[in-house]
Amino acid sequence: MPPALTSAQQVELKSLLLARRHELTRQLGQSQADLAPPEVNAGSVSQDENRRMANQTREIGSALTARDREAIARIDRALESITRGDYGICKACNEPIAFERLKAEPMTEHCVACKSDWEKKRPQARG
Ligand SMILES: [Zn+2]
Repeated sequence: MPPALTSAQQVELKSLLLARRHELTRQLGQSQADLAPPEVNAGSVSQDENRRMANQTREIGSALTARDREAIARIDRALESITRGDYGICKACNEPIAFERLKAEPMTEHCVACKSDWEKKRPQARG
């Protein structure tokens, strides 16, 4: 059984997570700003037209950012488990996850063995 993370390692991984979260939030904010509907003159556009445009914008926005939102949710879960003290423990086998793996993929919840096992069993479903 590999040793659990030292507090210095946890601090390092936490800052990795926070940096990644910051970057994603920034990108998310940008793509939402890009997709923001242009200012419409309420007098010249009907209520229906307004609603239709709002719906379109919302659909495009959510398609582009669903993946980013999911990534942010995973980062938040990882940060919560650092606070709880069970970060870096494989959800499948309860063994500590190697520090090198966490550094490469700090949001991961599974060790290499369980992850590759899972991918072998479900070759269609990645991620
Ligand atoms: Zn495992």
